[in-house]
This record gives sequence, structure tokens and C-alpha cells, in this order.
Amino acid sequence: RGKIAGGRRYTFHSPELDTWSHDRLSLESALRHGLVKGEFEVFYQPQINLASGNLTGLESLIRWHRPGSGLVQPEAFIPAAEASGIIHGLGDWAIIEAMEQLARWSREGLATVPVAINLSARQCADTSIVDTLRKGLADSGLAPSLLKVELTESTAMRDAGLAADLLQDIHGLGFSIALDDFGTGHSSLALLQRLSISELKIDQRFVNGIDDNGNDAAIVRGAIALAHGLDMRVVAEGVETQSQLRFLSEHGCDAAQGYLFAQPLPADEARNWLSGPPPHALHAIRRLAGGL
Ligand code: C2E
Ligand code: MG
Ligand code: MG
Ligand code: MG
Repeated sequence: RGKIAGGRRYTFHSPELDTWSHDRLSLESALRHGLVKGEFEVFYQPQINLASGNLTGLESLIRWHRPGSGLVQPEAFIPAAEASGIIHGLGDWAIIEAMEQLARWSREGLATVPVAINLSARQCADTSIVDTLRKGLADSGLAPSLLKVELTESTAMRDAGLAADLLQDIHGLGFSIALDDFGTGHSSLALLQRLSISELKIDQRFVNGIDDNGNDAAIVRGAIALAHGLDMRVVAEGVETQSQLRFLSEHGCDAAQGYLFAQPLPADEARNWLSGPPPHALHAIRRLAGGL
């Protein structure tokens, strides 16, 4: 039976590996079922323009209501979805869901801002992703200027030629492109400017170190200067404290997202942000202006 199914993975017996592969298989089948049963939800995290204090975008982030496990974060299932290929179906679902949500907000007459969609390495390796994005755009009727894709620096640099072609196609649809987790991969600076990227997102590990790690602070300053030198916008990820916000603002960072402003929120809570940032977010920005 094992042979017909593609052969056993291991030529020696190990109870540990059996457990591991069993867990892995049950996670995969739970993901497949979950997708069919509608157990996934897209959350949205606000991004704030540091000069104006206005909402400048929303990043869509997937969550899984796994029966018996509560709300499951992407770290716990995106790797398995990648390894098994389920990421294609799951990723397509998340993309269409985010676009439909933005279209609903837009029909309600809410002041819409661009929504960013994350693409994983495997999604980027399959050119059908361009068809998904094109179809989502056509079906939702959204202006492409309201859409952005994020791919990580390591995804972009993995196969530079492939990334260049893919990004050109996505850019051709009118989407803007952000380079996620900047600073954690190995960018060729020459390549960076050839890709159709309009935004760098500084990885949260550097933002997190701003206050007590001189190297991290230097990297953040350098990333802001690099982005601006290449005519890109720069967004800081994972901003949690007022002093990180102050540093970013003083060094000319364009926008920030993080728990200081808001966690990723279910659509109906994110909706409240569309009529303007709530008082605590405005307060954080005003403290910058007032120098308090
Ligand atoms: P990412 O795109 O770099 O997303 C940023 C992560 O930082 C999110 O984790 C967000 O919840 C978290 N975060 C935001 N602000 C803060 C903060 O102030 N402090 C801390 N400690 N964390 C903060 P999340 O939602 O768990 O997502 C993890 C990763 O999963 C994402 O990293 C992204 O690579 C991937 N992902 C999420 N949704 C999707 C999706 O729909 N499709 C694909 N392909 N990948 C996704
Ligand atoms: Mg998380
Ligand atoms: Mg992202
Ligand atoms: Mg990131």
C-alpha cells in the first residue's frame, strides 16, 4: 500500500518520524478541509503615515479558526501550506477575500486605502498568481492603485530573473509592490533598483532593537536612506513603543505599522479605521508633533 501511494518516506523505522509525518499529514488534511469549510479569515493591520497621522494602508493577514485550537497564526500553518502546495489554493482564497472586502468598503462609500496582499515564495514561483490577481481585479472592479503585493526580500532574491519577470507582470496590472522583511535576506542593491518595487518594509527585528541596539538603529537609518535614495517609500514593521516611533519619525520613515497603533484586526474592526485613526493612535502621533 505504501508503495502504491508513492513509497514510504523513510527506509528505517523511527517512531519519532512516524509521529512527525503523521502530524504533518493531519495538519495538511485539516488545512484542506478548513479551506473547503470556510475556517479561514483575513485580518487587516492599519499602517499610519508618520507625517500626517492618517491611515495610509492596510495589510491583509490570514488567520485560521481551527476547530479545537482557537485562532491559529500563520507561522503555525503557512510553512505546511507551502511544503504541501496548499498555499496555492489558500493564497488565492486570501487574495480574493481581501479584494472583495475592499470592494465592499468602497461601495459603502468609505474612504478606502490600499490593501497589501502577502505572497509566499511558492506562490511567486507559479506564474498563475498573475492570473489570480488579474481575475480578482476584474471581478472586484477595484482600481489597481488600491492594491499592493508584498513579497519578502528572500523570495525576491531567490531567483532574481524570475522575480524580475513576475514583478513586471504584477506591476503591469497596476499593483504596487513592497519588499517585505527587508534586512533579513541578501539583497543585491543593483538588482533592487531593477525590480518594480515602490516600497521597502523594514523587518520588525530591527525596529524592535532601535532603543537598545546601536547596530539595529544604524540598520534602520541605513534602510530609510537606501529606500529614499532609490525613490522608494519606507514602512517600519512591528512598531510597539513611542520611542521607536519617535526615532522613525525623526529619521524620515514614511509610515509605520505595529501594536502601538493596532494589532491585525477583523474586517469589522478595521472598518472603524477607515473613518480616521482612533484617539490612541492620534495621541501617539500628536506626541511626536508636540515633542512631549
Ligand atoms: P509579514 O507579512 O511580515 O507580517 C507582519 C507580521 O508581524 C504579522 O504576523 C503581524 O501580525 C506581525 N506584527 C505586526 N505588528 C507587530 C508588532 O508590533 N509586534 C509584533 N511582535 N508583531 C507584529 P502574522 O499575522 O502572524 O503573519 C506572519 C507572516 O505570515 C506574515 O509576515 C506573512 O509572511 C505570512 N502571511 C500572513 N498572511 C498571509 C497570506 O494571506 N498569504 C501569505 N502567502 N502569507 C501570509
Ligand atoms: Mg503572529
Ligand atoms: Mg507582509
Ligand atoms: Mg514582514
